[in-house]
Amino acid sequence: MSQIDGLPPLREVIATHELSAKKALGQNFLLDLNLTAKIARSAGDLSGSDILEIGPGPGGLTRGLLAEGARKVLAIEKDARCLPALAEIAAAYPGRLEVIEGDALKVDPLEHLTPPIKIAANLPYNVGTELLVRWLTPKVWPPFWTSLTLMFQREVAERIVAKPGSKAYGRLAILAQWRTEARIVIDLPPQAFTPPPKISSAVVQLTALPAPRYPADAEILSRTVAAAFNQRRKMLRAALKGVAPDIEDHLAAVGIPPTERAEQVSLEAFCALARSLEAGK
Ligand code: SAM
Repeated sequence: MSQIDGLPPLREVIATHELSAKKALGQNFLLDLNLTAKIARSAGDLSGSDILEIGPGPGGLTRGLLAEGARKVLAIEKDARCLPALAEIAAAYPGRLEVIEGDALKVDPLEHLTPPIKIAANLPYNVGTELLVRWLTPKVWPPFWTSLTLMFQREVAERIVAKPGSKAYGRLAILAQWRTEARIVIDLPPQAFTPPPKISSAVVQLTALPAPRYPADAEILSRTVAAAFNQRRKMLRAALKGVAPDIEDHLAAVGIPPTERAEQVSLEAFCALARSLEAGK
């Protein structure tokens, strides 16, 4: 693809701009532009959307998104060393790439974007999970984005798509599956990255549903599920004591045995519990 966009190969970009990977910023770069184009394609048709990209680094995924036809990419990057490399990409795609230097956890990107908006990112694990939870739990639904295309450690990706009864099932599964259609779309071995991390990764595609699968207040559901799975081996009547003193009544009201463990409780039942808790406030 370096032929298509006229830009140098990413290895050269990294050498020219001396972008040695910093562990503290979770920097494992994707240098294969065929792969970044494939990730960009998994986000669907980009031509009519603005894309919010978090953590572009030297710009592998950014180039993929632009080459695959994104109307505009807004990229937020914390590491100022990457800005000159990103400026070269902006010059190759006039008017289509805007870069903000900053921490994605603090910057509000909305005034720079026009709907429909898709989000794409290959982020360090902790930042990625925190942003995902924020994107999934706004008070009002549908959210400002139509889809999320996100790279995670394979184990985290499995937690997002997990079903009840499995070890991976927990808060991430509930929050993601409540309001989106979530699928693992690409598996990546450690060698896909430079430097290679210790573990495998996966791209998860989450498409926002027009409305949540079941009604519930996002804040109450999120808090209840967090408490339930924080002590996942405990029976719910004990794990959820801190959520409401009369938790046993609420569990009974929605037909969840008080001796059940969180792992066995369906999304639908957790939503019913959140509604009962809201009504009893
Ligand atoms: N997207 C590039 C790629 O696929 O090669 C880089 C991926 S690298 C795993 C993660 C990138 O996120 C790095 O460029 C890092 O500097 C950036 N980053 C880390 N924390 C960030 C934050 N809080 N806000 C914005 N960018 C961040």
